[in-house]
Amino acid sequence: MAEAEINLTDLRIIHYPDPRLRRKCAPVTNVDDSIRQLAHRMFELMRESRGVGLAAPQVGVPLRLFVMNHTGDPADDRVIINPQIEQRSGMAEAEEGCLSIPGVNVQVRRPSRCRLVATDLDGNEVVSEADELQARVWQHESDHLDGVLIIDRMNAADRIAVRKILRGLEDGYVR
Ligand code: ZN
Repeated sequence: MAEAEINLTDLRIIHYPDPRLRRKCAPVTNVDDSIRQLAHRMFELMRESRGVGLAAPQVGVPLRLFVMNHTGDPADDRVIINPQIEQRSGMAEAEEGCLSIPGVNVQVRRPSRCRLVATDLDGNEVVSEADELQARVWQHESDHLDGVLIIDRMNAADRIAVRKILRGLEDGYVR
């Protein structure tokens, strides 16, 4: 899709089982004003829902971009474009939720530390390393860009525990 075609006024967070959450997203080819406006609107939607991260496919835009803030301090707002996760190490399990799967909080095992290589809003390459929550958000949001959700990574006990909630979302979904 042409990046200029994004209609910002209609953007909203879409919910499971919307098939747009399952697409593999395309790289951002040009960090232009439409991308900056998209990121700005995504921060607004993320804050309204009290999230720590929001990926473009969660607002129906199939581009490899997410916004995040893992501390709540506005100085920690980050726009992550075309991310690559590298040098994964360790393994940790922690509870995760997802703004696109309301009511579902499940334990997810992920590498506890990783490196992120990405592009920022100025079009510059950024490389950083993190562990704990920051690394977890990077991986959760990067998963979205490949159509992967936390319900694909949950354990057997959680699968049973959230079955009814997922069925409710499926029954309530209007295309
Ligand atoms: Zn999510």
